Amino acid sequence: MGHCKSLPKDVTGIEDCPGVESVFPTVEEEEVDEEEEEEVGPSICRVLTEEDFGHLMENKTALVYLMQLKTLANKKVDSICKVKECGEGIEISIKHVGSAVYLKWICRNTHIADKWCSQPILNRGLHGGDLMFASSILFSGNNFNKMELFAKFLQMGFPSQSSFTRLQRQYLVPSVDELWSQKQEELIAELFFLVTAGWIFQVTVHNSVHIL
Ligand SMILES: [Zn+2]
Repeated sequence: MGHCKSLPKDVTGIEDCPGVESVFPTVEEEEVDEEEEEEVGPSICRVLTEEDFGHLMENKTALVYLMQLKTLANKKVDSICKVKECGEGIEISIKHVGSAVYLKWICRNTHIADKWCSQPILNRGLHGGDLMFASSILFSGNNFNKMELFAKFLQMGFPSQSSFTRLQRQYLVPSVDELWSQKQEELIAELFFLVTAGWIFQVTVHNSVHIL
């Protein structure tokens, strides 16, 4: 059988890399002309005054999935409450829950005409964006505090620290462990095949591990 011997690893000068190239295929970046003027229309808001700029800095932002945005765009909600003998005007309330945003069409008598959420919802009310934020932070080699600060500057809804920790523990770390075990098993199976096939071989990994 083979003999595996590990020598102390030299860890100096290793490039800080989240391993993105092993997850995503390399895509040639397209040159995008960011200065290109968008068409002006009645629903396209332009920043023209100092006050407009204030709104740009102060207004909250949120992670919105395009599918949900499309659903919202196609939504038709009456501006007057349809509940019998009510007839009050409908107003839209906005509520942030983690990284998601909820819109609620509600009249003064608290009749709810419609609701919309900016993200798909998984089991137990988990917002898709929260899960994706948590996995993106972990797999891009970032940390929660930095990304939370990033979101704070953007005035962006963000999952809480406890939510991030829970998602990491419940879903993300077990997934990484599972993939790690799977890869290990594949490697061991491959080596076992080579040994049983009677091959004489030497594998060198980072000049530190020799299997003879
Ligand atoms: Zn009503």
